[in-house]
Amino acid sequence: MTAFNDLQLLQPILKALQEEQYHQPTPIQQKTIPEILKGHDILACAQTGTGKTAAFAIPILQAIHNRQTSSKLPQALVLCPTRELAIQVEESFITYGRYLSVRCLALYGGVSQVNQEKELKRKVDVIVATPGRLLDFIQQELLDLSGIHHLVLDEADRMLDMGFIHDVKRILRFIPEKRQTLFFSATMQGEVQKLAQSILNNPVQVKVNPVSSTATKIQQSVYYVEQKEKTALLLSLIKTKGLERTLVFTRTKYGADRLCKQLKKQGIQSAAIHGDKSQGARQKALTDFKKSQLQILVATDIAARGIDIDDLGFVVNYEIPNIPETYVHRIGRTGRAGQEGMAISFCNPEEKTHLKNIQKLIGDAVPEATLNN
Ligand code: AMP
Repeated sequence: MTAFNDLQLLQPILKALQEEQYHQPTPIQQKTIPEILKGHDILACAQTGTGKTAAFAIPILQAIHNRQTSSKLPQALVLCPTRELAIQVEESFITYGRYLSVRCLALYGGVSQVNQEKELKRKVDVIVATPGRLLDFIQQELLDLSGIHHLVLDEADRMLDMGFIHDVKRILRFIPEKRQTLFFSATMQGEVQKLAQSILNNPVQVKVNPVSSTATKIQQSVYYVEQKEKTALLLSLIKTKGLERTLVFTRTKYGADRLCKQLKKQGIQSAAIHGDKSQGARQKALTDFKKSQLQILVATDIAARGIDIDDLGFVVNYEIPNIPETYVHRIGRTGRAGQEGMAISFCNPEEKTHLKNIQKLIGDAVPEATLNN
């Protein structure tokens, strides 16, 4: 069994990992860390929850520390589809690198540029950014990417789904061609594969937990219910199943707000996050949820992307997603890093086709549950 000690990591990194109680590298970490340290490009098919962030952050931190350059330019760039993910990746770099003097900064939209601009005036080694805000900085000549040695595309499939392909291509023009590129994606088809081929140089291919295999530690179930009875069902589950800290997915922003209001009316501490909420409101909701000051967080898919909460026991699909992969992403929010989780879906008669497609993708039937079992 490989241990972090076998991966030839720096003592300060090992110390931080120990404090985080990471006892053993996950499969993706075992496979990619040595290759990244050797300088290879990586094409990794891995979804969130596999430990992919540490898989690239740890070796990048080590490479930057070892380089000991006098250059003030950023040496690594991580592109992420959403602000939440960018913030989380930044936090990971800070966590694993807390005993190194490698500085990381996240640049994302939805907030004023002023503070980020101020932070950029100091030396920054790792930039974690969403494509739009990064381009703003490049175009205003506030950021020089000519010193980049490591480029990471995180959740590349999502980045393309969200229409960032042109932004990504534009950004690539400002980065040296001679670099290490690390490409992470939950799926590897069509445009994603094309993009990977066009930017990677003889990559080492790594595949763990493909999107069609839902984590085994997640207990899944489905309640067949009319749409108008879903809120009552949720309330009853909250009471009978003791749903603590539950992430509830709705299809629309409006639906998220409405459900949140109904829960609050019943005295249940909840908040909604979606694209119409300010960055501040989203961050506050997330922090409160992480601190267990909120019992229920209602989210739409885009807002929930990148949410990383330890010990999240329950995910509820208040609506069944019409894209089967989205189901896998959603329920991947629970049962992370080896913990147990429960994913409960509410399926109305019109949603049965979506459920069928999901079952086809995961190659398994989702067992039916009733309030009596
Ligand atoms: P990610 O797939 O990067 O979103 O990581 C999922 C979760 O796993 C995060 O909460 C990490 O803190 C956690 N994690 C990553 N690597 C390990 C490890 N080797 N041991 C325990 N937890 C880990």
